Amino acid sequence: MSVAVGSLAACATNPYRLTNKAYQRQARALAGTLRAQPRLSAGPDSLAQAPYWVGTTNFGLRKPNLVIIHHTAQHSTDETLRTFTLPRTQVSAHYVIGRDGRTFHLLSDYLRAWHGGVARWGNDNDINSSSIGIELDNDGTQPFAEPQIRSLLTVLKYLKKTYNIPAANFIGHSDIAPTRKDDPNPNFPWKRLADRGFGLWYDEAAARDTLATAPVAALLPPPLAAPADSAAAPARPNPVDAFDPREALRIIGYDTRDLNAAVAAFKRHFVQREVNGVLTASDRRILYNLYKKYL
Ligand SMILES: [Zn+2]
Repeated sequence: MSVAVGSLAACATNPYRLTNKAYQRQARALAGTLRAQPRLSAGPDSLAQAPYWVGTTNFGLRKPNLVIIHHTAQHSTDETLRTFTLPRTQVSAHYVIGRDGRTFHLLSDYLRAWHGGVARWGNDNDINSSSIGIELDNDGTQPFAEPQIRSLLTVLKYLKKTYNIPAANFIGHSDIAPTRKDDPNPNFPWKRLADRGFGLWYDEAAARDTLATAPVAALLPPPLAAPADSAAAPARPNPVDAFDPREALRIIGYDTRDLNAAVAAFKRHFVQREVNGVLTASDRRILYNLYKKYL
């Protein structure tokens, strides 16, 4: 009797008891793969096989080196947890963080979640193999709740320290899949993250136009005579006018085969307004300042 009560209680406290068993089964199957003697499953016929197996004594687990941040575009954490535990959806993430800051760790950081889809960053086109996926409960348009961001920062700090992940490698889903994805939405506080070492940010002073719209010039009264004093402005060579935005985006990591989509993804992350494929003069200054940090 007491056993039956106990199992009912366990069932009531964890509605994911059955899918957790499925996790354990899959983890055991993968452990079997790790324990097996390595061999080429379809090696070339000409390969001269060694007479016996030599297993090295020196190894560890491969570690994640990128963190991809998502918004769920769903209505609740519960909805996302259900999505990630239904085999037919074929999607998952390592972490799901609710608006209230509650953090679910769904998958060992050493295992491969299915969160990136067809994606690319630099020359890495298997993002799922190299990354941690973090999903933030958000309907896709709203601001991100403060408790949620605080929990995210705690998780990021842990990941950065544990796996020695470079600051530049904290990015968003739209950065790695610019033609398909728009998450996290432009309300996401990327600068706040970058200030704490999670992602890079541009120098805001350098991104301001120091030529035509210098603050001093703005304070001067407009000239009374009609012909503008454009001739008075010296034509100084400006590197911001000369660099190639496509190359700069590539250096940062963007897939630029669809340049409009890459520009929009860049603006969604670093400009966070007027998210489109058009680079304004101000956007160019931001891009120029930023890409040099990646050189
Ligand atoms: Zn996503």
